Amino acid sequence: MRKKLVAGNWKMHGSLLDNDTLLNALNKGIAVLGNEANCAVCVPYPYLAMVQSKLQGTNIKWGAQNVSQHEKGAYTGEVSAVMLNDFNCTYVIVGHSERRMLYGESNQVVAEKYLTAQKHKLVPILCVGETLEQRDSDTTEQIIEEQVNAVLALAGVDSLSNAVIAYEPVWAIGTGKTATPQQAQDIHHFIRQGIAKQNAEVAAGVTVLYGGSVKANNAAELFAMPDIDGGLIGGASLIADDFIAICKAAHS
Ligand code: PEP
Repeated sequence: MRKKLVAGNWKMHGSLLDNDTLLNALNKGIAVLGNEANCAVCVPYPYLAMVQSKLQGTNIKWGAQNVSQHEKGAYTGEVSAVMLNDFNCTYVIVGHSERRMLYGESNQVVAEKYLTAQKHKLVPILCVGETLEQRDSDTTEQIIEEQVNAVLALAGVDSLSNAVIAYEPVWAIGTGKTATPQQAQDIHHFIRQGIAKQNAEVAAGVTVLYGGSVKANNAAELFAMPDIDGGLIGGASLIADDFIAICKAAHS
């Protein structure tokens, strides 16, 4: 039985003041849910110290939204996995579609980031997903396969025992258009089947999240699908009541 995970992706949002209010509310609302599911927030780097101090000892974990593929060195503006360890991060998102599209991260670079994160005991949340054009041209499965396989080629299928995959159709991110539960389930099943060709046990155990306009009012039906193990939540993770409701949906 896979444990569900709801991870918030704050993207480039937040301030010391706003975060304080949000984290206080999350602490209160999520503490009472227990540990049947995992909840986490992935925050901008400058706020890692803040979430570490406010969330340690609670049932909310935290992480970052990106990491360098390099260990250290002359990489101005980059942040290493070792630095994330300094703040006791559990998770790091790699290959979010915004990183792939706006910052040119290739499948190879994403795979390298995944590998570096794991080497330093961080749990990578590997984002995969197709654009609307790719869905319309019936290449969704091919795109997803290439994105997953790039990671498997570099890190091996066993690496998925300590990783999370997030299926995020690009056309559903921040648009208010959610994949239907069946559309999402179909791709989650496809991802799991692909992994099962290499290792059935790993495939059965890997957490596969859905992301793309998950809200308080659609989380439960998405999470009820057999291959959907929770969600990666953008916009709704910034609204305490909504994020708590989504976490609650993962607990039922
Ligand atoms: C995301 O950015 O990963 C995401 C799923 O965003 P939203 O929930 O806002 O669509």
